[in-house]
Amino acid sequence: MKITKEVLTQIEKIANSKDVEIGGILGFGENEIVSYVIADLPDDSVGCRFDYYPNITFLNEQIEKWAEQGIDFAGFFHTHFSGSQNLSDTDKVYINAIMISSKDIVDCLFFPVFTLPDNKLNIYKACFQGEGIVIEKDELDIVWNETPET
Ligand SMILES: [Zn+2]
Repeated sequence: MKITKEVLTQIEKIANSKDVEIGGILGFGENEIVSYVIADLPDDSVGCRFDYYPNITFLNEQIEKWAEQGIDFAGFFHTHFSGSQNLSDTDKVYINAIMISSKDIVDCLFFPVFTLPDNKLNIYKACFQGEGIVIEKDELDIVWNETPET
């Protein structure tokens, strides 16, 4: 997954802004470089340090706004406080749900896990393959010279 240095820095800020696990959506700029991010607005009353549930309604609204601006939905990141780089069973459930709801617009989406306290982005790529969905690790490719529009 290619990502601008700016967006990587934004993800790091988002991840460190709350003491609960948090996530957000990623959008493609030119050349399939992830150049946009919007943080989820988790319901703090249900926020739990070790389990993160995306606010699907809010995120779908943002994805629609992006679509109107010509920004393609690229995927979804979330944080792990435990330092675990692996996807949890809960993660796989909502990855499948997001993939299925995006079926008409994408073949693959990225689902990076940002681990704390080491501030590392671990990339997973989910693709439709045959009747199923395959999730594989992917390389992090940081693009330094991209200037995203604001
Ligand atoms: Zn997780």
